Amino acid sequence: MTALNGEDEVVELCRDLIRIDSTNAGDNTGPGERAAAEYVAEKLAEVGLEPRILESDSRRANVVARIAGEDPSREALLLHGHLDVVPFNADDWTHHPLSGEIADGCVWGRGAVDMKDMDAMILAVVRQRLSEGRRPPRDVVLAFTADEEAGGSYGAQWLTEKHADLFEGCTEAIGEVGGFSVSLDEARRLYLIETAEKGIAWMRLTAKGRAGHGSMLNDENAITELADAVARIGRYQWPVRLTQTVKTFLAEVSEALELELDADDAEATVAKLGPLARMIGATLRNTANPTMLAGGYKANVIPQSAVAHVDGRFLPGHEEEFFATIDELLGPNVTREFVYHDIALETGFDGPLVRAMADALAAEDPGALAVPYTLSGGTDLKAFSRLGMRGFGFAPLRLPADLDFSGMFHGVDERVPTDSLRFGVRVLDRFLENC
Ligand SMILES: [Zn+2]
Repeated sequence: MTALNGEDEVVELCRDLIRIDSTNAGDNTGPGERAAAEYVAEKLAEVGLEPRILESDSRRANVVARIAGEDPSREALLLHGHLDVVPFNADDWTHHPLSGEIADGCVWGRGAVDMKDMDAMILAVVRQRLSEGRRPPRDVVLAFTADEEAGGSYGAQWLTEKHADLFEGCTEAIGEVGGFSVSLDEARRLYLIETAEKGIAWMRLTAKGRAGHGSMLNDENAITELADAVARIGRYQWPVRLTQTVKTFLAEVSEALELELDADDAEATVAKLGPLARMIGATLRNTANPTMLAGGYKANVIPQSAVAHVDGRFLPGHEEEFFATIDELLGPNVTREFVYHDIALETGFDGPLVRAMADALAAEDPGALAVPYTLSGGTDLKAFSRLGMRGFGFAPLRLPADLDFSGMFHGVDERVPTDSLRFGVRVLDRFLENC
């Protein structure tokens, strides 16, 4: 086999993947991930792997492959990336979101940071290593999943329920939303490695009352009851709860920036972090935001019921407190049910795998400071964690200081610098060498 160069390939792999429409609107319509999965499987088969395409429903395709490591007695590592992307309104974009256009040193398109970039980096590094005959020190399982953007019921959740055998021996997992840089100054960059995720509680609230004529007295008005509960939830000031991950993050960042860390006023410390504050601020506390409201059908008719939706997110270790508070805020006349509910995750920032990530970053960027952080959202890691895996968000990218990276997730003009993709391949290669 002729040796392939991952740094040369990664940009084209990323562009190709962006050009394959795998939009996921969340209702199982649309193109599905089949075409992207076939592309990925072909790229893996070319370097001697035997990828399996697993469809959970028509065109909802996942790809799983196993690379035999040098020491089969060791436990395996999972590298996972999702193949679907969120929808877009092409008119809003500078370059078409399915174009994979290169402009201003970036690859543009839906999925450029979430997460066809990492899919391409994984493909590039695996193809290079295998074409050079370099196996990883232990078994590495690759999973490219469907449906992450809609909760994974056709993707990671389905895979881990129906095909758990494919992940046999996997005790650690590497996936998305981490490993990117945030500039402290010219010389130093934080690299945020995800070690925790908030839990998810999307809830439907229902108030039931007494229907009747809008001109009559009515002290059981469903809309009034519901509106009160929604306002209580929306206005509630959730107390700051510092998890271990957030404490470690704040301590590292305060030291690096020579900031005074006031444990009693974590918010003030976070406010000094500039654009990062938006992301980190949400990890200091549970949150619950009312997002939908509906009830009634005529101006002079009091309806029997009214419905609202709330997007709740709870910190690791604070789920019970979250629901106790929500129930108190709801009051006796409003009930809740789940639209979607998933666990919070947290693991320590220690051990050989963490060292391998930090060392790989430091070798490619001498100004790198790896720190753990909590993701305010959720990823496929929640599903994989149910198989006993300890997981991290580590899709390494060295980014220009002025790029609003977190704003690009699901945003307009999503793009990734080509240099960052090449950096990611080099870091992942070093990481796999020592994983
Ligand atoms: Zn994603």
